[in-house]
Amino acid sequence: MTNHINKFSRRFFISISTAVLIVACSQTSPEQQTQNTDDKMGGEVNIYSSRHYNTDDQLYEGFTEQTGIKINLIEGKDDELIERIKNEGANSPADILITVDAGRLWRADQAGIFAPVESAVLTEKIPTHLRHPENLWFGYSKRARVIMYNKDKVNAEDLSTYEDLADPKWKDKILVRSSSNIYNQSLVAGMIEEKGEEATTKWIEELIGNLAQSPQGNDTGNIEAVAAGKGDLTIANTYYLARYKDRPEIFAKIGVIFPNQQDRGAHVNISGAGMLKNAPHAEQAIAFLEYLASPKAQEFFALGNNEYPVVEGTPLNPVVESFGEFKEDTTNVSSYGQNNAKAVQIMDRAGWK
Ligand code: FE
Repeated sequence: MTNHINKFSRRFFISISTAVLIVACSQTSPEQQTQNTDDKMGGEVNIYSSRHYNTDDQLYEGFTEQTGIKINLIEGKDDELIERIKNEGANSPADILITVDAGRLWRADQAGIFAPVESAVLTEKIPTHLRHPENLWFGYSKRARVIMYNKDKVNAEDLSTYEDLADPKWKDKILVRSSSNIYNQSLVAGMIEEKGEEATTKWIEELIGNLAQSPQGNDTGNIEAVAAGKGDLTIANTYYLARYKDRPEIFAKIGVIFPNQQDRGAHVNISGAGMLKNAPHAEQAIAFLEYLASPKAQEFFALGNNEYPVVEGTPLNPVVESFGEFKEDTTNVSSYGQNNAKAVQIMDRAGWK
């Protein structure tokens, strides 16, 4: 185990800030350098991240430029990183965990690895429903999980809510991915929060009765299948569709419905981060969390994966903007974690494989 972890460290421990520092220093006079050093916090911060988008590198470089804090980055899969932090215990070098889906952040919270962060900057900038009630983690970008349809087959006026997917008129028309996927678990957990277990169970049973094939693939696979006419409708995150912008044979065929605009709003989830309980560099870690809510970081953070920023006034990717404005469900995303076990149980019993 130790061996495995060491190897893992050597492979994934990447220092991306050195080059930036050298460039920054070479462009300033000795006098300016002294001034900058005085203004900047300096030191380092160790980040464990399960996001792996190229644009995240720019995000990290921007932080080092602004604060003089060097970033050491370890990338890995969510559950592996959580397990690793647990195993490292009091000796863990990790300061920050970044991951996607509130359900996973909740899982990390259940493992007892986060420390609460009291920051006026964060509580002011990040809407209440997108952060942990006791500030153990914060959402930095949003993803909307919406209904997508084949424009040749569906009239968008024929449905407007997640509940409408249960209508028998969609029999053999709907494609979904497996219930083992956290995105669907969180969608169902959110519905439990809003409508209760009974109504949610009924919805899932009827939805499953409308499937064109057994649950399979991922969001992109289902979007492609709908474009190819294997089904009329699917449920997917908007950023996956944005990735097809240069493939008209798919992009032009798919329409987006932001569900439940007349009542609770479309289901949103987050990418988020928190400071770890045994963080050796707490001051730098908090500076990093606050940086992620800055206008520049919000732009990088959201654009890196065609997501929605959480801080108002941040520009959107034009492709994402073309999907239109929408009302979002403001249920606290931490309920997705709290209701996760119930969601999995209901999906299981209803036969959502
Ligand atoms: Fe995803």
